[in-house]
Amino acid sequence: MTLIDGKAISQQIKDELKDKTQALKAGGIEVTLAVILVGEDPASQVYVRNKKRACEYIGYRSLSYELPETTSQEKLLELVQELNDRDDVDGILVQMPLPKHIDEKAVINAIRPDKDVDGFHPVNVGKLCIGEEGFVSCTPAGVIQLLKRGCPDLDITGKECVIVGRSNIVGKPMMHLMLRENATVTVTHSRTADLKAVCKRADILIAAIGKPEMITADYVKEGAVVIDVGINRKEDGKLCGDVKFDEVSKIASAITPVPGGVGPMTIAMLMNNCYEAAVLHNRYDNSFR
Ligand code: NDP
Repeated sequence: MTLIDGKAISQQIKDELKDKTQALKAGGIEVTLAVILVGEDPASQVYVRNKKRACEYIGYRSLSYELPETTSQEKLLELVQELNDRDDVDGILVQMPLPKHIDEKAVINAIRPDKDVDGFHPVNVGKLCIGEEGFVSCTPAGVIQLLKRGCPDLDITGKECVIVGRSNIVGKPMMHLMLRENATVTVTHSRTADLKAVCKRADILIAAIGKPEMITADYVKEGAVVIDVGINRKEDGKLCGDVKFDEVSKIASAITPVPGGVGPMTIAMLMNNCYEAAVLHNRYDNSFR
């Protein structure tokens, strides 16, 4: 059984980006990410801090905007617009969730698609859907890297892939990425009939549900590759995934742990999107808009 080490793979990706960033810098190009946080949600503060740390490690410039909870939607949109217009900003990240009085969709739609390093803008989602280049949502992009780098002997082409979860940020983009890799993809959700039988068909099973340890051994085919996107907190305060690791690791050929699997990949892929944004801005002079 292979334990797919997301910590090591994300470190590898960050180190590759660090080298490539030095090369860009030598050519006079600096990568800049603007991070906006509204309010004081403790989890969001941790995510933002980790993103800024990753920028520092790789050698990007990060601009930080920490706005009070009471910030109006209008003010936030004004800031996004200002950052859209700045030539020295490559990526804009607005940390979600936003306070209830702000319409998240309106904010996502306001970010210029060529600066949308989260890959949430409808233009980028549409590009993924029709197979054009654009920014891809970081977590599913990270899963592809885990499969490629963590299971180098795995040929995804023709494999049965079952995804549990159909959210806009994980399940749906995951479906497009696995199709792009030539897998035969089934997307399941809370209304799927006989979920166990469907999951049992999978050569590659991807769980993005948000239900602690729901995927037990009887959902998994012997020898399957299992990717656990879930991050849940158990009653004892410990983190766990959507997959019952102790059972499933006995029959899977490869599996990601939680923590240390998909989690660290999300920031690594965000950093990769920032690099791509800087290359794009300097190569095409904003023609991606
Ligand atoms: P959502 O709540 O948006 O989506 C959950 C999906 O799971 C829905 O499509 C839902 O179906 C489906 N679902 C819920 N219950 C069941 C069930 N009993 N059987 C089958 N399907 C079910 O969650 P996200 O996609 O945002 O996140 C999923 C998990 O991944 C969470 O644990 C989250 O914390 C984690 N996550 C981890 C990230 C990382 O960096 N590693 C990043 C993003 C998320 P329906 O559509 O029918 O309601």
